[in-house]
Amino acid sequence: MFLTRPWTLGKIFGIPLRIDPSWLLIFLLLVYQLAFIVFPYELGVRPRRGIPFDLIALAVAASLLLFASVLAHELAHALMARTRGVSVLSITLFIFGGIAQIGDEPDSPATEFLIAIVGPLISFVIAIFAGAVWIWLQAFDALGVFYQTPLPRLALYVSVVAFYLAQTNLLLAVFNLLPGFPLDGGRVLRALVWAVLKDPKRATYWGMLSGRGLALLMAGVGVFFILRGEYDGGWALLMAWFLWRAAGDAYHGMLARELLKQVTVGELMRSPASRVSEALSLRELAEQFSSWLRAPALAVDLQGVAVGMIGIAQLEKFNRAHWETTRVRQAMLPLSPDNTVRSTAPALQALQVMTEREREALAVVQGEQALGIIGREELARYLQTKGE
Ligand SMILES: [Zn+2]
Repeated sequence: MFLTRPWTLGKIFGIPLRIDPSWLLIFLLLVYQLAFIVFPYELGVRPRRGIPFDLIALAVAASLLLFASVLAHELAHALMARTRGVSVLSITLFIFGGIAQIGDEPDSPATEFLIAIVGPLISFVIAIFAGAVWIWLQAFDALGVFYQTPLPRLALYVSVVAFYLAQTNLLLAVFNLLPGFPLDGGRVLRALVWAVLKDPKRATYWGMLSGRGLALLMAGVGVFFILRGEYDGGWALLMAWFLWRAAGDAYHGMLARELLKQVTVGELMRSPASRVSEALSLRELAEQFSSWLRAPALAVDLQGVAVGMIGIAQLEKFNRAHWETTRVRQAMLPLSPDNTVRSTAPALQALQVMTEREREALAVVQGEQALGIIGREELARYLQTKGE
């Protein structure tokens, strides 16, 4: 399920908002749990025959509000990043919350600290607000304000949802503040180490250790509970495993991005790149790709000027029966900012454009001229030679 691509919901403040398909399953489980277990218990209603539509509606509302809370948390990270001049690529919401993917490393400990801390801060604010609503309603109820008015049922409903949101947002804030990288708390820790040691690389290393240390601690807690026969400990083990991997991935990702900043696209590109005439038929192109020509290739016009790029993916969009009559010019991707990068740009920028636009390779340009092609392969090979 984790392998499926996230769905793009749209844009919020200009930032692409994506949702992992696994979220839908969690949403349904959550609605079920709230409508049939949690809310009936809190409202003190006895099991009824038939479908409890009111409770289901309440559960859907509570789940959507929780979703909005997670979104607010990630949006806080994203907007703070943007305010501090760090580009934001996307926000993805998935099974355990969300990720605001930023395009670059923060340039200073202060920036990293601010980006990390606002998420949990917003969760705290929401928890306090929801908690206040719950307390007011409880107090009004105790004072008999709702007595014999048509309001009590609605007030009761609002109060259980408010209580639920206060609990979950508090949990969200506290969990994210655990000092293990790449959780928010781990990022705060990394920023502090960075400020003290003045060395972002060593701070990243210590951050990674903090993540792994926390993962081991969680695993220990999980095993402890399982040995006592409390199998909920399995959740702690699962989380420990996620955190262990995330800490390593984040560490290596950071080192890789650091390395890709120090080299230009021009130094790593494939040059000379494969070139084909835009007048070639797709059948001939397919033959060349399967014998000697490396995909993707630059498509050039009669004057030899590159006008587009064509790879296996564009070829496969056309039915084989039409390959004879279709020209490269009809199938190619015309060169645009979506599939090009300047040769003088840092290689990191190529990686960012590829990630953002979901491309495997880009045309490398200088002024109006296309010089070559750079793909994930070139970046990976370079990182390999550097031991990353
Ligand atoms: Zn966060």
